[in-house]
Amino acid sequence: MRGLVFAGDRRAEVRDFDQLDPGPGEVRVKVRSSGMCGSDLHTYRGPAKDPTGPVKRPGHEPCGEIAAVGAGVTNVHVGDRVIVHHYLGCGYCKYCRLGYNQLCLNPGPNNLYYGGSEHGGHGESLICAARVCVPLADELTFDEGAMIACGTSTAYLGLIKMDISGRDTVAIFGQGPVGLAGTMLAKAMGSRVIAVDLSEPRLQLARDAGADELVNPNDGDVTEQIRTLTHGEGADAALEAAGAQATRKASCTAVKVFGRTSWVGEQGEVVLQPTPDIIHRHLTLYGSWTVSIFGMEETAQFVIDRKVPLQSMVTERLNIENVPEAYQRFDKQDTGKMVISWD
Ligand SMILES: [Zn+2]
Ligand SMILES: [Zn+2]
Repeated sequence: MRGLVFAGDRRAEVRDFDQLDPGPGEVRVKVRSSGMCGSDLHTYRGPAKDPTGPVKRPGHEPCGEIAAVGAGVTNVHVGDRVIVHHYLGCGYCKYCRLGYNQLCLNPGPNNLYYGGSEHGGHGESLICAARVCVPLADELTFDEGAMIACGTSTAYLGLIKMDISGRDTVAIFGQGPVGLAGTMLAKAMGSRVIAVDLSEPRLQLARDAGADELVNPNDGDVTEQIRTLTHGEGADAALEAAGAQATRKASCTAVKVFGRTSWVGEQGEVVLQPTPDIIHRHLTLYGSWTVSIFGMEETAQFVIDRKVPLQSMVTERLNIENVPEAYQRFDKQDTGKMVISWD
């Protein structure tokens, strides 16, 4: 079977892999859609992994059909459509019981994630634990399921932590796949949305996704631009999905007094002045790391019930053989959502 690997320093290669059978408690998922997520770029850009160690296929947004089940698996059956939650965890500690497997307290063989320490969705199939499979409702496409596996649910949790509603003007920093999903979801929650990005193509995608206002930092200070759009006060809330110094800072300074901000963009650093940026502004700042299994199901239900047009986010559906070239373009950070498709 064909699958992708990151070979280090912005190189991706398609290689042949053996198709494996699931062990006890495991399933083989025939991947139908695998999302390319911005956080993959950190690995893509990084140095080559130890060449003596096994190279794992990336892809932490897998969605597909159960192709085989191992011994003792009862929660899913061959042919079921599923979304894979990409963290395993011990299954017993308090955070695993909450569905936050990524916060597992027990280091050990089960403290792993698919698309990182284990093979992920960028291949024709993957082996994972049956208990991380969530049923994909008939109303959702495989592409939508893939997006809900990480990026869209990450945006959803970041927004609901701030209790976003129709009373809010929400500034969304970064209109890559996570931020763009945030724009769609915040609109579906009734909010007025100000979309922020340096890329004009991404701002246009945000406009198409329903953003009310577009702000490009190239046009001047972002905080000033957002205050101009909000009677001089700032947005009620902000979602930071770019993970850059400037946007992290602006996501705090561009919300009004008593505002709230959610950070979901990973990596990097930021310098904040506690007194003017946080304390004197009574800012509530949330950190939010992907989503729980339950949160993934809740996101899927919200997308169905509110008819969020998630599929329209997908600008490219790729054959695995074309993915190395696609990562070069994704790396420039002005594309829409790209998925690897096996239709
Ligand atoms: Zn991700
Ligand atoms: Zn655990």
